Amino acid sequence: MLVLDTTLRDGEQTPGVSLIPQQKLEIAKALDDLGVDIIEAGSAITSEGERESIKRIANEGLGAEIASYSRIVQGDIDLAMKCDVDCIFLVSPTSDLHIKYKLGIGRDKLLEKTLDSIQYCKDHDLVVDLCCEDGSRTDADFLEKLLISASKQGIERFTVADTVGIMTPEKTGAMFSKLSEVSKIPLGVHCHDDLGLATANTLAAVLNGAEVVNVTINGLGERAGNAPLEEVVMALSFGYGVETRIQTEKLGPVSDLVEKICGIPVPPNKAIVGENAFTHEAGIHVDGILKKPETYEAIKPELVGRRRSFVLGKHVGLKSVKNALDEMDIEVDDKTIKDIFKKVKYIGDKGKKVTSTDLEVIAKSVLDEDIEHALYLDELVAVAGNKITPTASVKIKINGDDVVESAVGTGPVDAAINAIRRATRDIPFELIEYHVDSISGGTGAVVQVTIKLKSKDRIITASGAGADIVLASVDAMIAGINSIARKLD
Ligand code: MN
Repeated sequence: MLVLDTTLRDGEQTPGVSLIPQQKLEIAKALDDLGVDIIEAGSAITSEGERESIKRIANEGLGAEIASYSRIVQGDIDLAMKCDVDCIFLVSPTSDLHIKYKLGIGRDKLLEKTLDSIQYCKDHDLVVDLCCEDGSRTDADFLEKLLISASKQGIERFTVADTVGIMTPEKTGAMFSKLSEVSKIPLGVHCHDDLGLATANTLAAVLNGAEVVNVTINGLGERAGNAPLEEVVMALSFGYGVETRIQTEKLGPVSDLVEKICGIPVPPNKAIVGENAFTHEAGIHVDGILKKPETYEAIKPELVGRRRSFVLGKHVGLKSVKNALDEMDIEVDDKTIKDIFKKVKYIGDKGKKVTSTDLEVIAKSVLDEDIEHALYLDELVAVAGNKITPTASVKIKINGDDVVESAVGTGPVDAAINAIRRATRDIPFELIEYHVDSISGGTGAVVQVTIKLKSKDRIITASGAGADIVLASVDAMIAGINSIARKLD
């Protein structure tokens, strides 16, 4: 089974996503490393910047075949060729709706233009993946005619796109079953998720003869997106024993990279790669998981590059509190655990979630002993104003030594965080999330700042609260870094 990833073309057509060449190259390298067979790197006709991206990707020496989207227009193919691509993902709008309203021509003319474009590509030794745009609404006989004539012309692959995402698994299966009876070349399937069926339709196509799946990381793509690579690959393997070249343990990290670069957050409940995909909260579940993970996990988190985690809320069980304390290397006796458990349960009943930092504070108060922190904030000065570059300086005690640092930023919070990062440069971490909630209303509101720090393969959540957003942000950072520093010892 071949995987064609179109994160860099269809995925980049996600509203709000626009990438520079360096970013596209970084994603392309990650996709290649992941084991993608074909990378649709972009559409050469789009812009000069896009051509630079495609050209750099094509000349990076990647193992994957590199393709550019092209319309059935010679100019598009010429520009794609200038980018040194291996393959033309040749898109021909084949439904009567598209032929008539978009191109203003008839089926015969469309077929002629398509075959001419294929011939042009073949004259230049390019691999051709002919993609029938709006293929799912194309007349079945015409689709077959296109497949047969284009195959004679020497195309390598024939892809049917469900461009507007209106298919169902049964219809997709029937369509591919019919096409695969006459096809002598690999068939590709390109699905959109408008009805939430992109993955199901892709699987149905594969079960009926498709040999190339068009997918994107995190399901990015126009409107509701494309079939997500992570879902299709795992469902094919897990559900049908159909294997790809994808190294599944890299799925999590690649999803994170694409999320970070594209700026489109992955929903927490997203299959395979969402933050909650391997997070357990309910007490009975956690108890079962600790005894035998298979009780409440479809697949092992390590298989897709994720870690199992527990969140303590009102459903928390005693076992998960103990497990979380063990994770933090906090040793307590049975009686103390029960006291800590009661407090966590109390907070959970108030509708709050207990993060690892909260649990540590609770444990500390119960143990009635001060945990030795590595970092203490001594002083913070943050300056901002009209015509003043936002600047902050911090004085932090790190393992007993005073460290003073200052930095500028886009605003006072940014400047303060930059100053802390400088002061703590020896501690490896990355700020991956910053979030502010207003607890009470009005301009004097108390705000809660929640941050996520990533250090190696651990993610620490910490928070700070107060009327001053800069101070609350700094408190959250110090608490988070303290958690990391403790684990490093
Ligand atoms: Mn598409």
